Amino acid sequence: MRIAVLSDIHSNLVALDAVLDHAGAVDAIWHLGDVVGYGPEPDAVVARLVERSATGVRGNHDAAAIGGLEIDWFNADARAAVEWTRETIGDATRAWLAALPERLAVDDITLVHGSPRDPLREYVTDRLTASENLDTLGTRHGLHGHTHVPVAWVAAPDRVVLVHAQDGLRLALEPHRTLLNPGSVGQPRDGDPRAAYLVMDQEAGMVAWHRVAYDVAPVQAAIRAAGLPWRLADRLAVGA
Ligand code: ZN
Repeated sequence: MRIAVLSDIHSNLVALDAVLDHAGAVDAIWHLGDVVGYGPEPDAVVARLVERSATGVRGNHDAAAIGGLEIDWFNADARAAVEWTRETIGDATRAWLAALPERLAVDDITLVHGSPRDPLREYVTDRLTASENLDTLGTRHGLHGHTHVPVAWVAAPDRVVLVHAQDGLRLALEPHRTLLNPGSVGQPRDGDPRAAYLVMDQEAGMVAWHRVAYDVAPVQAAIRAAGLPWRLADRLAVGA
């Protein structure tokens, strides 16, 4: 099985289509939540994932968009986008988001949005948090997003090692347990505006990270035309 793993698409259809085109023929598409929020095309993004039979989990923005999560702890731009998304999405999108589980285990891999122990809230950004989550994971490997930064946390025998996942990085799934973050399709935050995702090749036992350039201008124009905060458009040009 070759699986494209996508996270934090955030209603950015242009970035999603660029990634799907780049991935080409894959056996499955998994997503790690935050399918909606921030961006201008929530319904079209969900429709594309349905069309491609993608499976995955719920993110904090997905939960907030259907009223399932308090938005007090969202920053002003995120909150404005959640409110816009709530008013904009159609019934089919709302039903699809409502059916997403918080976690999914497929063979020896767990899919979550934030962290394995707190899927909707916790950010895995430091070694201790990664280590504690690897301890409670319950499967050999974990896939997560939420930070919008592509990295791998590798449980070496004596310590957890952080690997910054540059474009083209390949990593063997064995012999160590791992927590893998594909980065964000629709709103990267590592200073690289290109859409990020990873491909897991189960036969080869390898994962590979990729970056895909896409035209941010029409997405920025759509964000502004929708009346969403302009900062959400500006940040796409710089990947921040
Ligand atoms: Zn996100």
